[in-house]
Amino acid sequence: MARLIGVFGGTFDPVHNGHLRTVLDVVEAGNPDELLLIPCHVPPHRGDPMVASRQRLRMLELAVAGEPRFRVDDRELRRDEPSYTVDTLVSLQREHPGDRFFLVLGMDSFLGLPRWHRWRELGKLAHMVVMSRPDTATSASGELARWLAGRQTGDWRQLRTGRAGRVLFQEVTQLAVSATDVRRRLANGGSARYLMPEAVWGYIQEEGLYGAVTALSEPGGVNPGEA
Ligand code: ATP
Repeated sequence: MARLIGVFGGTFDPVHNGHLRTVLDVVEAGNPDELLLIPCHVPPHRGDPMVASRQRLRMLELAVAGEPRFRVDDRELRRDEPSYTVDTLVSLQREHPGDRFFLVLGMDSFLGLPRWHRWRELGKLAHMVVMSRPDTATSASGELARWLAGRQTGDWRQLRTGRAGRVLFQEVTQLAVSATDVRRRLANGGSARYLMPEAVWGYIQEEGLYGAVTALSEPGGVNPGEA
């Protein structure tokens, strides 16, 4: 039987609990065989990330350590050109012929889909699972609404039986956390504790990312080598 594989892409600059708890809700709802988290190298739809790809990858690895239902996949970091999702799906299909894929998207990303490279092809390569997100519109309009007509399902089984093209809206834990908000806090000398796994927060401090005060320079700070 075909396996069902979820693909959650993002800039993850940095990864936070708004990514992690929500995508775990998706996994618990649909029970896919695997969930891949794929950091993008050169995001085509936005400015350059603040920190290097290697560091964003490391934060993701730290974030999912100990969670066997998640796997970090670095294929976009091995390509130098813009990280188009359509290319990622083609490469995954080549590796896993016969398996079924679904893209996991936050509602804000889904509503921006018509700006993505060859976006209509995405619906031929994979299903989509759209996660609700606080402060985001809840319905599509224009060409996206027309494209959506007839694709929507509430039944996860259809993602296993059909090859591609279904869209499932999944209610997830509402966490009003964004990477933009985390970066802003750190730039202002604030903390990111409890907005992300402790190991990621520790790494940000060790590396002094996003303007965070390094643990070493804080009074009573931990020596990263010993932490
Ligand atoms: P930024 O603030 O830099 O735009 P972000 O927090 O939206 O970043 P991304 O890496 O751009 O994070 O997002 C990856 C995916 O995760 C997107 O599909 C986005 O919609 C989704 N996502 C991010 N945060 C949340 C959240 N709190 N709830 C639901 N979905 C989210």
